[in-house]
Amino acid sequence: SKKEKRKAKEDKKEQKQNVYPRPLEKFHALRQRFGVAQRLQENVSEQGYDLATEVQLAALPVLLDDPKSFLPLPTESNAAALESSCIDLLTVAPTGSGKTLAFLIPLFSKIMRLRKSQKDVRHTTAVILAPTKELVGQITNEGKKLALNTGIKITQVRKGMRLGHSLAADDSAEDKAEEESSVKVDILVSTPGVLHSILADQEGDTHNALPAVQSLVLDEADVLLDPLFRDQTLAIWNKLSHADLRVSLWSATMGSNVEDLARSTIAERRKRLAESDVE
Ligand code: ADP
Ligand code: MG
Repeated sequence: SKKEKRKAKEDKKEQKQNVYPRPLEKFHALRQRFGVAQRLQENVSEQGYDLATEVQLAALPVLLDDPKSFLPLPTESNAAALESSCIDLLTVAPTGSGKTLAFLIPLFSKIMRLRKSQKDVRHTTAVILAPTKELVGQITNEGKKLALNTGIKITQVRKGMRLGHSLAADDSAEDKAEEESSVKVDILVSTPGVLHSILADQEGDTHNALPAVQSLVLDEADVLLDPLFRDQTLAIWNKLSHADLRVSLWSATMGSNVEDLARSTIAERRKRLAESDVE
């Protein structure tokens, strides 16, 4: 229709100008504007929320579109730095403002798209980290509501879990037996401590435990990057070796060191990836 065409034109213009995208007015727009799967749209509607919260209406359009096309800062140096980073969004919004749905909806939308190309093989493509078991439980519960009938599996990481990895056709029978007993889900939700210890335990394996992870969400990022959790959080981030890894950080307060830490992690990771390319 004419209206749609005009909207598409406006969207294009926004992208050219490198400004923030038009906010999401209503959850209805998820499907019309961003092609979110019908089932996912329905599961969002099922939550009974009429209007998106402030953080949702601002963050959803950025994450559901190509975040790189919305570099917020027009100055050249900043734009260049942001463009080469793998951070989609650094979000600061008060407690209770609905940040969980703001990161879950785009994550689900992306994974539903990815799964179409994966066919019957299921790889873990997203990791969500949060500082406490309670938060991990809450995020998982919200995720399960969105996952209903979408085919997406989300689970809370528990001690002793074996993480799944995909095998090549010529892998040994032993590898195949291990593969059988491992957890195969799309989204893992964990505290840094539990996931870090599992990854350390599986270190000796010939396979990288999480090679397909393309999205990392740091919820309560200020806490995840404070001295108590920082080493584990960054170690996990560094182990995610997918070249297209995208990271988003969410917090109620953001210490000034968070951006610096994120940048140095990106630099370190890039160096390591470059080295492994040379090998
Ligand atoms: P935050 O992580 O920002 O502290 P949460 O994601 O935990 O906030 O959300 C706080 C509460 O608000 C939850 O009970 C959640 O279900 C609810 N909520 C989320 N989105 C909306 C919305 N659009 N309208 C009304 N309530 C919402
Ligand atoms: Mg929260």
